[in-house]
Amino acid sequence: MTGQRKMKTAIVGAGMAGILAAIKLKQRGEEFTVFEKADRIGGTWRENRYPGLTCDVPSHAYTYSFEPYAEWQASYAAGAEIQTYFEKVVEKYGIGPAIRFNAEVTALDWDDTEAKWTVTLKDGSRQDFDVVVAASGVLHHPRMPEIEGLDSFAGPAFHTARWDESAPIKDARVGLIGSGSTGIQIVTAINKQVASLVHFQRSPQWVMPVPYSTYSDAERTAFRNDPALIDAIRFSDEYLGNVRRFTDAITDVDGPEMKMIEDICRDHFEASIRDPELKEKLRPNYRAACKRLIYSWCYYEEVQHPAVHVETGRIERIEPRGVRMVDGTLHELDTLVLATGFQADRFIRPAGVTGQGGVTLDAFWARRPTAHYAVTLPGFPNLFMLNGPTGPVGNFSLIDIAEMQWSYIDQLIDLLRQGRAETVAPTAEAHAHYEERRIAAAKTTIFGSGCQSWYLDAEGVPASWPWSYDAFEQAMKAPNLSEYTLRERVAA
Ligand code: NAP
Repeated sequence: MTGQRKMKTAIVGAGMAGILAAIKLKQRGEEFTVFEKADRIGGTWRENRYPGLTCDVPSHAYTYSFEPYAEWQASYAAGAEIQTYFEKVVEKYGIGPAIRFNAEVTALDWDDTEAKWTVTLKDGSRQDFDVVVAASGVLHHPRMPEIEGLDSFAGPAFHTARWDESAPIKDARVGLIGSGSTGIQIVTAINKQVASLVHFQRSPQWVMPVPYSTYSDAERTAFRNDPALIDAIRFSDEYLGNVRRFTDAITDVDGPEMKMIEDICRDHFEASIRDPELKEKLRPNYRAACKRLIYSWCYYEEVQHPAVHVETGRIERIEPRGVRMVDGTLHELDTLVLATGFQADRFIRPAGVTGQGGVTLDAFWARRPTAHYAVTLPGFPNLFMLNGPTGPVGNFSLIDIAEMQWSYIDQLIDLLRQGRAETVAPTAEAHAHYEERRIAAAKTTIFGSGCQSWYLDAEGVPASWPWSYDAFEQAMKAPNLSEYTLRERVAA
């Protein structure tokens, strides 16, 4: 039976990806509800408010392709500005009324007879949908360090994604554990305000220098009057060319692009750090881009500020007065900031997801989180993931990745709309074949070259798309329907 079928879609999460799905469905005139656990949109940009929060993707490249923004203050945008951008987009596209706030999804249950997903919220209410789009983000469950005595610290101690505005920073003795992208940005933002900053660094970072400049009012007016000026930046070789060269590098670790990245990072490091002792502390013993590369215009300068002490010794425990090192040193602190990253394997969990035959997502992901081309799951029909497991990660915009994924998802939903199928899910065989190829390739990427990072799964295999950016773009152009089971709609 064919014909246009009215679909009802649940979108989980009102961050960048959920807003994208909502806009696209609204433009199709379709019925949908966005379930958001918090009381505001914004996802990562709502939750992260730490000093120095900046997106390391150029501001004009960190927007929806269809919604350029003239108002950026600088070539790299601060977190609060990005939050404002998304709020304006929600307003402009009239998405607000479709969002249910304070509505945490706790369970998704598939009914194979009715071909429906039942969405259960924290308050116990339930609602049925034909399609679910999981847009719940990647890095949203803080990873607290397992350090003895953490709870005993007398002052404020908090994770960077739960920033405590009341905690003393100005003229205070601050400790900062963690030197990922977040910890590095915090160093550059608070070093001149604090009385002292002890940066507890377990691993140093490679830093890619990037130019930073502010936009003048005249430039913003020009962008407003002529969006082509924005496109010239967003689609420039300087940005997109770099993205392509970056993914070529991470997938061809002995190739010329990787050599170029390594040379730039090494030269920047050698030329920037003046004190020989600090230099040895900051010298990584793994290859550039193995961990997420730090893009910064100021870290090496700011870490050399006299208020900053980089501590590379091992932490013994946390005590009421501060952090005790294995060598017995006590760093006395007023405030302790935990920039220790996120549990990157959660995705839509802790919501309990149950698919065909009562199989749970926890069971399906027992070994590692995975999704077919990062989007669909065998045994979980009509469930689509945006920025799900095995997608591309690196120093580029995940908004672009979500847009590519939406084009793929929309084509699959179209099969349902047109009545060509009642359910769509990848076959287990096709997915197993994808995973086998992906894992083999992932092990050879730079992420698997011998460092610890959130890019690795529990078995130490890079959890990401292991091929080029172009290959992902190509894969998202059209789903290969021979890899999918389309169950026909049974006439009522
Ligand atoms: P992260 O990259 O996972 O870094 C966590 C840091 O904490 C690492 O330095 C880690 O050391 C350290 N750490 C963890 N547990 C520890 C312990 N028990 N004792 C001592 N040190 C410990 O987390 P993140 O910095 O929050 O960044 C996560 C991701 O968010 C980034 O990779 C990026 O994708 C995104 N992000 C992006 C931006 C941006 O500008 N776009 C900004 C911030 C974050 P080891 O390295 O030794 O494990």
